[in-house]
Amino acid sequence: HADAAPVAAQQDRHPGFDIQAVRRDFPILSERINGKPLVWLDNAATTHKPRQVIERISHFYAHENSNIHRAAHTLAARATDAYEHAREVVRRFIHAPDAREVIFVRGTTEAINLVAKAWGGTNVGEGDEIIISHLEHHANIVPWQQLAAAKGARLRVIPVDDQGQIRLDEYQKLINDRTKIVAIGHVSNVLGTVVPVKQVVEIARRRGITTLIDGAQSIAHTPVDVQDLGADFFVFSGHKIFAPTGIGVLWGRREVLEAMPPWQGGGNMIADVTFEKTVYQPLPNTFEAGTGNIADAVGLGAALEYVERIGIAQISRYEHALVDYGMAQLASIAGLRLIGTVPGKASVLAFTLDGYSTDEVGQALNAEGIAVRTGHHCAQPILRRFGVETAVRPSLAFYNTFDEVDQLVREVRKLAARRR
Ligand code: PLP
Repeated sequence: HADAAPVAAQQDRHPGFDIQAVRRDFPILSERINGKPLVWLDNAATTHKPRQVIERISHFYAHENSNIHRAAHTLAARATDAYEHAREVVRRFIHAPDAREVIFVRGTTEAINLVAKAWGGTNVGEGDEIIISHLEHHANIVPWQQLAAAKGARLRVIPVDDQGQIRLDEYQKLINDRTKIVAIGHVSNVLGTVVPVKQVVEIARRRGITTLIDGAQSIAHTPVDVQDLGADFFVFSGHKIFAPTGIGVLWGRREVLEAMPPWQGGGNMIADVTFEKTVYQPLPNTFEAGTGNIADAVGLGAALEYVERIGIAQISRYEHALVDYGMAQLASIAGLRLIGTVPGKASVLAFTLDGYSTDEVGQALNAEGIAVRTGHHCAQPILRRFGVETAVRPSLAFYNTFDEVDQLVREVRKLAARRR
């Protein structure tokens, strides 16, 4: 029954922040879709932007716009200050020791490709092995596959159990003297599984193996402390954490970044160029060739400051209550199969419904103003592990309410009843 929520979830309903004020900060949440109020449950694909971010970008273009670093005039100084402030906010948000370790890139995909090309290009050779997990997004599969193909190296995959958690015992069997890097997702974008990345990293580090954490799905849902996690690289996309598209972060341990060759050459990343020889800038410029996405980096800084004001720990606690509630409600619908049932999962509630294609479910929900993603979610191997090609994937953010989860459940229940 719709009101049969577990007692624990009922007690946790209060977010610990003013959720109505938060919702008013996100203008798009007031949109109407098909005559109904928008219920945005596609946060794993992308999140919406609060007016603080929209206004910050607008302010940049109205008052600060210039290229950075290169010119000695007032607007160049303003633009540079805004950009470097954003870098410092990122550093603080992920608890990095040094802002020079924060490299602005287009997003998670570009960050992983950068590491695969620049780090992989010099550190991976024939017969070497790269470990990923069965949970990975294509962005954390394909660049490693390309690297492996180019170098004659081998991709090894940590299997998952039937709930959707990686198997640490199997991981320990996979890791060996040929393993050069372990690249692992922090939170699965299909199952919501929170992976014990700290343990994964620790096991690799004990053997001197380099590690990368794909934080695309964790950054907005759980506190991140890169020093505590212990990995060499941590990457994420701005658009998954209330910031614009086209901006993201590669964090790397300083000595690892400094030992890496640049992956692109051009302006901004050089100290001196002759036709014979180029001397590169130190970090972070080494890896920021050309004019970057300055305004959106500033927007990312504003988004992280917004999240800091609410508190990522509060957000995480509230979202877990919301996910647990949604899981319990969906589980009570006859003919609905939940995919990914690891306790304590984050944000994502993937399912299939007997008698319907996932597209049909998505379209029926859209008719009611409820936006969910359907399809393979750029992670085909893990869906196939659970015997399906596609799934319906509602995904939550801290601006979602219990009421919205109830609306989702009500509509899915109606569909299920119609079939019977
Ligand atoms: N990794 C994971 C776990 C993701 O969920 C996503 C986005 O869906 C990505 C990587 C790729 O992110 P982007 O498309 O922003 O580069």
